[in-house]
This record gives sequence, C-alpha cells and structure tokens, in this order.
Amino acid sequence: MKKEKTRAWYKKNWADVWFSRFIRERDKRCYTCDTTSTKLQCGHFVPRQYLATRYSEINNHAQCYACNMLYGGQPSKYSLNLIRDYGQDVVTNLENSRHLIIRDMDYKRIGDEYKLKYEQLVKENNEL
Ligand SMILES: [Zn+2]
Repeated sequence: MKKEKTRAWYKKNWADVWFSRFIRERDKRCYTCDTTSTKLQCGHFVPRQYLATRYSEINNHAQCYACNMLYGGQPSKYSLNLIRDYGQDVVTNLENSRHLIIRDMDYKRIGDEYKLKYEQLVKENNEL
C-alpha cells in the first residue's frame, strides 16, 4: 500500500518550496563557488533537520548541485563566507541555535510569507 503523506508534510513542503524559491531568487549564484550556470538549490549551512535555523535567511544561500550535494555543502567555504558577510558572532549564534527546541512551527504562515517575498523580489528584479 502506498504510504499516505500527512497534512503536516504538505504544510512543511509549502514552506520549504517558497522559502527555497525566495533564497535562489535573492542570490542567483552559488554562495560557495560563484557559478550562475547551473540550476541552483537552497543550501543550508546548519543542516535542514534543525528547525530553529531551517528558515533563517542567514543560514540559507543558493548553491549549485555540486557544492550542495557532491561536496556536502562546502562547509568550510560556506563558513568563511558567512563570517565575511555577517560576522563571527552571527555565525556562532547560528551554530549554537541549532539545538533550540521548536514547537508548533507555523509552516502555512512561513510558506505564505515567503511566497509573497518571492513574488515581490521577482517583480523588483524584472524592473531593474
Ligand atoms: Zn557551487
């Protein structure tokens, strides 16, 4: 029997899809190798199973398939770039916050919010 996907899965997926689209539209290039030539993915610095940082705009940047999947996210390059862009304290806080326990994440709201942000960004980018 085919396993049914739960309501929770759909809600989480809604948030993931729109958050990822927003991040890729924002960055438009791989955060760790600068390529713009391949299809970009949303690369998490702190891995995505940690809910506290899963939808953080600092913890997530566009990455190419090679950096994200083949090279495990290029963590040392990623880390250096984060420190360059946000400072050591922000990166330390990010890494420490992975262990925060998050209850009742509102995936519907997150998805709705990033859908709007994504659409706004596309509009702005098209006007440039
Ligand atoms: Zn790359």
